[in-house]
Amino acid sequence: MKAEIIAVGTELLMGETQDTNSSWIGSRLPEVGLELHWVTIVGDNIDELTDILARAWERSDVVLTMGGLGPTMDDLTRDGIAGMLGETITTDPGLKVWLEDSFARRNMNPMPQQNLRQAGIIPSASSIHNSLGTAPSWWIERNGKILATMPGPPRELTNMWSTEIAPRLKERIPGNVIMSRMFKTIGLSEAAVDEMVGELYQMPGMDFGVYAKPDGIYVRAIAKAQTEAEVLSTLQAAETKIRAALDEYIWGTDEDLPAVVVGQLLRERGYKLAVLESCTGGMLGGAITDIEGSSDYFVGGAITYSLGLKVQAGVPAATIDDFGVVSEETAIA
Ligand code: AMP
Ligand code: MG
Repeated sequence: MKAEIIAVGTELLMGETQDTNSSWIGSRLPEVGLELHWVTIVGDNIDELTDILARAWERSDVVLTMGGLGPTMDDLTRDGIAGMLGETITTDPGLKVWLEDSFARRNMNPMPQQNLRQAGIIPSASSIHNSLGTAPSWWIERNGKILATMPGPPRELTNMWSTEIAPRLKERIPGNVIMSRMFKTIGLSEAAVDEMVGELYQMPGMDFGVYAKPDGIYVRAIAKAQTEAEVLSTLQAAETKIRAALDEYIWGTDEDLPAVVVGQLLRERGYKLAVLESCTGGMLGGAITDIEGSSDYFVGGAITYSLGLKVQAGVPAATIDDFGVVSEETAIA
């Protein structure tokens, strides 16, 4: 099923606030069986907002809006949806009581009149309480389509998604499971990886993507099927082929970090690690000490940025001359 995200807020268009909500939700849609097709950022402008809502409602099965649910006059998501559906917003007595209560609980009495906007509802929508803020969500279902609003503040959005929106979507989207796995390689170019896994692109029920990242080239394998068992077996078959094709170039999967993987290898072998850092100015040691339990294998290091300090630390000038500042020989010396 096609999903679409609309992020609302002029501050997002101006680059003042980064739209982190869209990518957060985007990464979670596969687990509820949805494929994201469009993300739109729209400013706090009622005509443009109504327009993009109408287009989304027309072309997508599930439309998720984020932001624009505040109490102020520039929070227009509710008005846009009401306009798009040709419905009128009225104050929901239950929501009003809930809102006044949440102000009372926070010792913020009396509630500003302006906040009544957040108790507004239309006939097609049911409301979902927001346990971390004052902006309730709207949930609308019509002709097999779903539209849900979510609050803009990331903490409220992620909570609303996990506790309310995702479970509802899961219930309504049966028999469409999507799972993916990331394989992380090092030592190969993007084109080389693409060539090595190229023949897998024909695998039925699978999609692949190749991405260049700071810690190597990643291959994402996405499996789609009707049941979880089917998806797991397709993904497993793909993994076997990817591992055969990329073999020792794979250093990790999914959430693995280089420093964690290196730490595991050091631990397995009973090795201790020290670093000599020049240009990195301590970044390498920082990345290693960020990992829990790294004191088991990491003894420390020296930041010898200048040439003089390297020589002072005991590196023979001849070694630097012969092998260069950044070299195994200099590091060992
Ligand atoms: P709003 O509901 O539009 O009033 O948004 C409230 C606050 O949530 C904004 O001031 C932003 O700090 C934050 N916010 C809104 N939309 C996003 C987004 N797409 N990504 C990250 N933060 C957001
Ligand atoms: Mg806003």
